[in-house]
Amino acid sequence: MDIKFSTTGIRGISNKTMTAELALKLGQTFGTFFNGKGKVLVARDTRTSSEMLRSALISGLLSTGINVVDAGLAPVPALSHCVKEGFDAGVMITSSHNPPEYNGMKFMTGESVEFSSGEEKKFIELAKKEPIKADWDKVGKLEEQDILEKYSKKLIGLIDAEAVRSGKFKVVVDTGNGAQGKLMPGLLEKLDCEVVGLFTKLTGIFERAPEPRPETLDVLIEKVKAENADFGVAFDCDGDRCIFVDETGEVVMGDVTGTLLAREILREKKGARVVTPISTSKVMDDVAEAEGGEIIKTMVGAKYIGETLKNEGADYGFEETGGSFFPEISFTRDGSAATVKVLEVLAKSGKKFSELIAELPKYYQIKLKVGCEEDKKSDIPNLKDKIDKENKEIVTMDGIKVVFEDGSVLMRASGTEPLIRIFVEAITKEKVEEYASWGESLVKAL
Ligand code: MG
Repeated sequence: MDIKFSTTGIRGISNKTMTAELALKLGQTFGTFFNGKGKVLVARDTRTSSEMLRSALISGLLSTGINVVDAGLAPVPALSHCVKEGFDAGVMITSSHNPPEYNGMKFMTGESVEFSSGEEKKFIELAKKEPIKADWDKVGKLEEQDILEKYSKKLIGLIDAEAVRSGKFKVVVDTGNGAQGKLMPGLLEKLDCEVVGLFTKLTGIFERAPEPRPETLDVLIEKVKAENADFGVAFDCDGDRCIFVDETGEVVMGDVTGTLLAREILREKKGARVVTPISTSKVMDDVAEAEGGEIIKTMVGAKYIGETLKNEGADYGFEETGGSFFPEISFTRDGSAATVKVLEVLAKSGKKFSELIAELPKYYQIKLKVGCEEDKKSDIPNLKDKIDKENKEIVTMDGIKVVFEDGSVLMRASGTEPLIRIFVEAITKEKVEEYASWGESLVKAL
């Protein structure tokens, strides 16, 4: 069986490349990885094949001697938090924001950090060998446990809940037929919010495109305006990422929300450290400079942020696709925590969401994709010699980032698709368009 990790876990098409047989094999291998010892927490999203894969995965784990606690349907951040608080490892059955026919698994260690590249390699090697098989009296035990109450309490404890309650916010929650539908509406009601639910049925049949992006949120945007809500929030299927819509119906990109939350943390704790990838907007650099904080830059990908956050003991992490990391809770992305934190910022400031965004420096951004065969991706470093522009700084942490006085162009290979992604940012609309066409022609020439 061919096992391959993408940027986050293992994914495939249900009953084609992600089968019950593969799930069994993954369970056996994961159990063998931990020498058949310890307690693993398993949760799943709403996808139609998640129960099938859950049963096979758990069989594999139990056969090695691992004890399993099945949390049932739950968002991935709830799993991460509970893993960090008392398990040896965790597995989430999900394919995050992929189309509904996909499914997969995310593996995390007992510290709630996603598998590192080294651990993935070890896992793939182990999968080629015979798994551990426990003796009849050492086979693992299975129990079920609800984890949402414990996690909800933690989230409410993370914020000034009284301030939020007195704000009496009205929130439109679009859970995209994913796992957050089970948690988020009820959690917001506990914070005295008036909740308008959108796509909250737990079916795994997506009534909107599963990835929350500006172009997929038109129903949410209209609802926020029609309901005169304070804001809207949309989650992906496993509930680790979320994108906000302000009270005027404007989509707030993930790095802008992340910067807003980072600013609060820097104001509360002088010299706090924030982890964010190389693709993040310069708005964060500006805020860190103004508020006196340190930024630690990483490669693009949630696992690099989580790993760095833990190893550096930093205070907060975020990424532009709408992932926020709160080390008090876990070292994986947490869309629910980001939502309650946004409520707290609104409550304490007494300002509207759009007013808070207007306080941040504004940059223009363009994102492009250029098709690229897998074996051509390794040619990206060669772009370095083709850069004809003056007055630049080149960063090669992940792909190539060319930084100018008034903007930047990042060109990097996608970890999941046959594409090169180009992120362009500049201080004016004209400049961003100029840099975008320059970057695009450079990549196409390659
Ligand atoms: Mg996700």
